[in-house]
Amino acid sequence: MSDAIERPPGFTYRSDLKRQSRLCCEQLPVERLAERFGTPLYVYSARAIRERVRAFDHAFKDIEHTICYSVKANSNLAVLRLLGELGCGFDVVSGGELARVLAVRRAEKVVFSGVGKAAQEMEAAVRAKILLFNVESASELRVLEACAARLKSTASVALRVNPDVPADTHPYISTGLEKHKFGVPVCEARELYARAARSPHLRVAGISVHIGSQITNPTPFSAASQRVAEIVGELRRDGHTILYVDVGGGLGIPYQQQREEFSHLVRAYAEAVIAPLQGLGVKLLVEPGRSIVGPAGALLTRVLYRKANGGKKFIVVDAAMNDLIRPALYQAEHEIVPVEMARRAPEIVDIVGPVCESGDFFARARSLPAVAEGELLAILDAGAYGMALASNYNSRARPAEVMVEGKTAKLIRRRETIAELIRLERAN
Ligand SMILES: *Cc1c(COP(=O)(O)O)cnc(C)c1O
Repeated sequence: MSDAIERPPGFTYRSDLKRQSRLCCEQLPVERLAERFGTPLYVYSARAIRERVRAFDHAFKDIEHTICYSVKANSNLAVLRLLGELGCGFDVVSGGELARVLAVRRAEKVVFSGVGKAAQEMEAAVRAKILLFNVESASELRVLEACAARLKSTASVALRVNPDVPADTHPYISTGLEKHKFGVPVCEARELYARAARSPHLRVAGISVHIGSQITNPTPFSAASQRVAEIVGELRRDGHTILYVDVGGGLGIPYQQQREEFSHLVRAYAEAVIAPLQGLGVKLLVEPGRSIVGPAGALLTRVLYRKANGGKKFIVVDAAMNDLIRPALYQAEHEIVPVEMARRAPEIVDIVGPVCESGDFFARARSLPAVAEGELLAILDAGAYGMALASNYNSRARPAEVMVEGKTAKLIRRRETIAELIRLERAN
């Protein structure tokens, strides 16, 4: 078996006996998955997820830490179960995500983030006895206290502070500046901590930050950590117990061809985060989402039609923006490869879906080996914010999801049916 292109460890081209090179997920040719489960199809590699969690754990080995996987990146129950088995906790941002975690795991390592937690959602989390609430405003703190009081319980809180650190990423996924809706300005945090400390139903337990997503430069993480370390000192001088420092998520992944070794990237990230906090005796919570599951998943799609408008060539595929909205929403550039790697000349094409929007594209003016109608393409690095952001726009049923482990594939979410899409509606 010769590997023409290494895409470690999840997706690799392998040559079969006829010397044809085909894209595999672990030991399985993805073509077989497409035949068995149809397209568009999300395929995840369990081994890739496992190895990425291991790389994280290793990078943070010098400090007591818990990886609280950010559920919003990919919330499939099988993904959550696998991560739970690997020792991960979870970062949830809604009652729905909490319910997903509770379907597979206890809540002892769950942190609850988000700027708009409803009282009902917080009650469910207090009942489940989660580890930590990351509170984002004075009003939220008041509502949480009332919830805990009603349930005759105590909620552990951290304030999410806004460190006012620029993150150098897409504006939609940058969150750590004062102009953003997230967190509490540092100058207000002390007063809120004092208020929390006076309540018999709240327990001050930590501090949290999250500066944004898809950040590959360690400098902003280091700046945020430094800011947090200073605040931990001040809060302790005020008499608060600050046991947990939740540094959020946001480590980016390279979406283009040149793949840096993940262990290097995560090590540089860990060093930037840990250095300012070393010696404070805190327990670190890290909330990676994308960097754990992104490269572990691909979206398989079949070429429906080739067409040309004027001089421009289009490849129309059966997946669309409703299945993977990242290119339309964030100008994301996913690498797209033919599943069968035969030698052929490249051409410049737009790869587009069937949805009635010009924003429905996966790539524009992209060089791709000339593919035929009926062929399969794989859109890589689609494991995070892919299925999680999928919708039913154009009344399209969302894709099925498959988890591969070695030579076996498990259907972890079957394809929706059109009947399911309309079941909740009444025509009269
Ligand atoms: C989105 C989010 C994360 C995860 O971000 P990634 O970029 O996927 O690592 C972590 N924490 C919070 C509070 C978030 O909002």
